[in-house]
Amino acid sequence: MTTASVNERIQLIVKGQSKDSTCSTSLAKGPWEFDGGPAAYGPGSSSEDVIPADAPRQGVLPDEYKTATQDELHARIVAAKATLGDKVVILGHFYQREEIVQHADYLGDSFQLAVAAKGRPEAEHIVFCGVHFMAETADILSNDEQKVILPNLAAGCSMADMADEDSVEDCWEQLMELYGTEPNAAGLAPVIPVTYMNSSAALKAFCGRNGGIVCTSSNAEIVLKWAFERGQRVLFFPDQHLGRNTAKAMGISVDQMPLWHGRKELGGNTAEQLNEAKVILWNGFCSVHKRFTVAQIDKARAEFPGVRVIVHPESPMAVVDAADEYGSTDYIRKAVAAATEPTTFAIGTEINMVQRLAAQYPQHNIFCLDPVVCPCSTMYRIHPGYLAWVLERLVAGETVNQIVVNDNVATDARVALERMLAAKPL
Ligand code: SF4
Repeated sequence: MTTASVNERIQLIVKGQSKDSTCSTSLAKGPWEFDGGPAAYGPGSSSEDVIPADAPRQGVLPDEYKTATQDELHARIVAAKATLGDKVVILGHFYQREEIVQHADYLGDSFQLAVAAKGRPEAEHIVFCGVHFMAETADILSNDEQKVILPNLAAGCSMADMADEDSVEDCWEQLMELYGTEPNAAGLAPVIPVTYMNSSAALKAFCGRNGGIVCTSSNAEIVLKWAFERGQRVLFFPDQHLGRNTAKAMGISVDQMPLWHGRKELGGNTAEQLNEAKVILWNGFCSVHKRFTVAQIDKARAEFPGVRVIVHPESPMAVVDAADEYGSTDYIRKAVAAATEPTTFAIGTEINMVQRLAAQYPQHNIFCLDPVVCPCSTMYRIHPGYLAWVLERLVAGETVNQIVVNDNVATDARVALERMLAAKPL
């Protein structure tokens, strides 16, 4: 087991000093080399995904941050943070690189972090080391006076971008035409929209306006139960796998979960299929969790008899079915923390988190199911150079890379988020 960070492992691979492999040697370069790229998200797990034309792009990062060494950047971040004191809070997602996480005041999943920011009302600035939809959620839930900063604007989420507002509105119109808008005799609406937290603020607002709700990977089942108390069916977006895995665990037949392909007539389904449907799944996925396979699980079991295989529910259904357990990032973290005997864990989630667990719990043998070092490419866009830059601009009195959700959108999105909180109080 190595305790080198994911970034250090990638650098060693590229220099030929490690036998490991990476999905892209370009990961060793600075993210600024890819910020303005026209087609894809850049190296890493999402390298095949296409960036929507209107996705935010990062402007030029000053050269001094590109050429500084890791040690210099570390010292500059520490100094800027000390100068800013309580006026700034730094949030770090579980999937962030180690060189960022060590500066975070809070480490957690997207919703835990958005809520954590509320607990620091004295912080005028919330620096969210995560991806764009997370910074939006923090802006929606934080106080009006607090400004949310995303260190690199190009840190989007390819899964969130797979469901854009226009395509979902188009889908909704088609469904309303097919099902009608009136409730049935039992008072159940024809369909309830449910969006995963990993979606734009605009889609959370869509759910707020249309009797829908937000879910996380921790509470998806509770949220689906909430939805079925109010509707005959659910339209679940953007992650088909979380929707399918959760609904299947609730006893819903996979045959009653048609996949909706955006902008196709009836999403590529027949009216009969949609009339039979219980959960209509948007055709989105996470490129990180899509990499996990049943063959990897078989290999882990062959090499380590007794291994505990835990995967995230954004993984494909066959992988979740083959694993010993599945659950959110928080579930995985708690499962490892709770193991009292030395255990071998094969974990199917983003490699930065798996490697951190391995370093944190040396009494266990913990490894990522995917042997290839392949981080989430957009999370990886938050390089220490950007963190140093946004903090030093704050010291100089300038707020850069602020994420602002328009008031109307925020109001509707908050409705859907509050429904989620009422369905499962934290
Ligand atoms: S791990 Fe997947 S869902 Fe999370 S930010 Fe990356 S692409 Fe999006």
